[in-house]
Amino acid sequence: MVDMETRAQHETPIDMKHAAKNRKLIVANWKMNPQTRKEAGQLSRAVQQGIRGAKNVEVVLCPPLPYLSIVNCQLSVVGKGAQNCFYQQNGAYTGEVSPAMLKDIGCGYVIIGHSERKKYAGETNEIINKKLKAALRAGLKVILCIGEESRDSFDSRGRWTHELDPKVKEQLVEAVKGVKKSQIGNIAVAYEPVWAIGTGNPATPDDVLSAKIFIRKIMSELYSRKDADKVLVLYGGSTNRKNTVDFIKDGQMDGLLVGGASLDPEEFITMIKEVSEVS
Ligand code: PEP
Repeated sequence: MVDMETRAQHETPIDMKHAAKNRKLIVANWKMNPQTRKEAGQLSRAVQQGIRGAKNVEVVLCPPLPYLSIVNCQLSVVGKGAQNCFYQQNGAYTGEVSPAMLKDIGCGYVIIGHSERKKYAGETNEIINKKLKAALRAGLKVILCIGEESRDSFDSRGRWTHELDPKVKEQLVEAVKGVKKSQIGNIAVAYEPVWAIGTGNPATPDDVLSAKIFIRKIMSELYSRKDADKVLVLYGGSTNRKNTVDFIKDGQMDGLLVGGASLDPEEFITMIKEVSEVS
């Protein structure tokens, strides 16, 4: 369990007026799926059909770029986002897509710094920082991913010490370098331990609560407590209908970043409904 004193020192006291207005944010990262535009359209429609009437949630669908224009947001609680963007708004950058273009085609969000982009596209903290600032400048909200590669902080009895890898702090601090106080509320930080992504081996609610406290503490140090409270903290890594409620209730997450399970409409709809019911 997270030490209660640590929790009390760093946890945000819940402002009920604010909390009531606060919707949970559920982001679907389709990655490089599905295979056809027909399937993408079907998936988007099935999810929206299935969550009609869901309250207290905001759902963001992040399809691959070629499918962005066929994902129509039919419900007020559904938005769309991209999985990446470049850090310039226009110009001679072959193969890149700017945040301004994403905004222009109706995106409200962009995922930045996903570990798969670090792994396959060589993204560094410096590049992530430039992308994040460019996205905010264009008026997009950012889902910033951070997370450690492996779980290596164990005590002598082999139990996790709840200390996050210092690289996670570095990722966050470097990502928000130069971001103005006034922009902080447009960032949601997704804690995504790499060891939990797509492995079927999720973190625990205690793990993610520790991570939330850690993230809020860093943001308080960089900005202020009040600003830090504006940053939503999401969890991502092997979430499914069986563990959703645990992360929201016990882990006190402000939402989830969902990979694999977001491709299965029935599974994803169930997750959204469960979040809606406990929020
Ligand atoms: C992700 O890729 O952001 C992710 C959380 O994937 P999964 O849910 O499949 O672990």
